[in-house]
Amino acid sequence: MTDPAGYGIDNLPFGIISDARDEEKRPAVAFEDNVIDLDCLVHRGALDAESLLGATTLNAFLAEGRATWRAVRARLQHLLGDAASTDERSAVAKATLPRDAVTLHLPVEIGDYVDFYSSIEHATNVGRIMRPGAELLPNYRHIPIGYHGRSGTVVVSGTPVRRPHGQRKAPDAALPEFAPSTMLDVELEMGWVAGGASSHGEPVPANAVRDHVFGYVLLNDWSARDIQAWEYQPLGPFLAKSFATSISPWIVTLDALEPFRVEERTRDPEPLPYLRASEPWAYDIELEMLLQTPAMRDRANAPYTIARTNFRGMYWTVAQQLAHVTSNGANVRPGDLFGTGTISGPTPGSEGSLLELTHRGSNPIALPNGEKRAFLEDGDTITIRGQAKNANKHIALGEVTGTIVQ
Ligand code: CA
Repeated sequence: MTDPAGYGIDNLPFGIISDARDEEKRPAVAFEDNVIDLDCLVHRGALDAESLLGATTLNAFLAEGRATWRAVRARLQHLLGDAASTDERSAVAKATLPRDAVTLHLPVEIGDYVDFYSSIEHATNVGRIMRPGAELLPNYRHIPIGYHGRSGTVVVSGTPVRRPHGQRKAPDAALPEFAPSTMLDVELEMGWVAGGASSHGEPVPANAVRDHVFGYVLLNDWSARDIQAWEYQPLGPFLAKSFATSISPWIVTLDALEPFRVEERTRDPEPLPYLRASEPWAYDIELEMLLQTPAMRDRANAPYTIARTNFRGMYWTVAQQLAHVTSNGANVRPGDLFGTGTISGPTPGSEGSLLELTHRGSNPIALPNGEKRAFLEDGDTITIRGQAKNANKHIALGEVTGTIVQ
């Protein structure tokens, strides 16, 4: 039984499902321990949303924009709530499937994929490890740093991740070698999925988040640190990160997360005017990362939490990322994916990568069964979970999981 907690009427995250009875992909929302087939609801006339009918991705729906997203969400809350009529309840019943019985697919066809670097704690920790003496580069507090990633290798949670081969060079070696990565790592991140439309040549202001951001997923930016260390200068990450990026299957909408927007951290210096939004865009979202080794799995040992952190401490927010990425006139399109960057906190155990948690492998994590991990070994499973919770509401971000294969 799937845990229904966090999947109530306040959440209703969007995804793409199929099931054994009907292998066609179709849009759905998660509700309690079920999914509601939106194609079926539209087909039966209970939901007016042409862009969801026969859709195998959410791209067309995302292109419709905020008014449609809100109308569909409000209609679904009515259909699933106490005020639904007998006919409406009957339509919902016909569109309901157990969540455990469906296969989840990538929710959108990913367009462009960008990964930011928006946790100052992560940037400082990595700087300390990679460039002793030059921890935080002078541009960091002025400009949201990021790079363009590879959208074609974004995979849905549960997809196995093959250990990449690549070029690396040990510091004391004369020449590089080509071999499987021995420093395979994770990056605990969130990602936002763009919707609506912007025009090429027209920057999007920081205050236009609600028109251009549909919602959030959890994201694991798998990273090969040995390949990265050799290739990243002078142009940044390339093959060390392009082999796979995993995302959670359910997109949690901006509206569902609205009660969890909180004040942003103080920035010094104040960012340039185009990076200032008139309302705060930090979120209080609890995140954790768990590891299960093959030996743990064989003995039915539960996954072990290796990091706990919170999204609220990020230095750069979605508003600044959106404004920055379009500030040169580049447009965002429905289905574009933007990673936040590794979410690391200020305290030990709140770092979002093994690079940081193990100090580049020199201080391996001791697991409860006696095993140790510096970096990932074949068969290891990493799961990232997220939730937002207060006295009245509980929103599950779900999870993104992946197992390393040879
Ligand atoms: Ca990253």
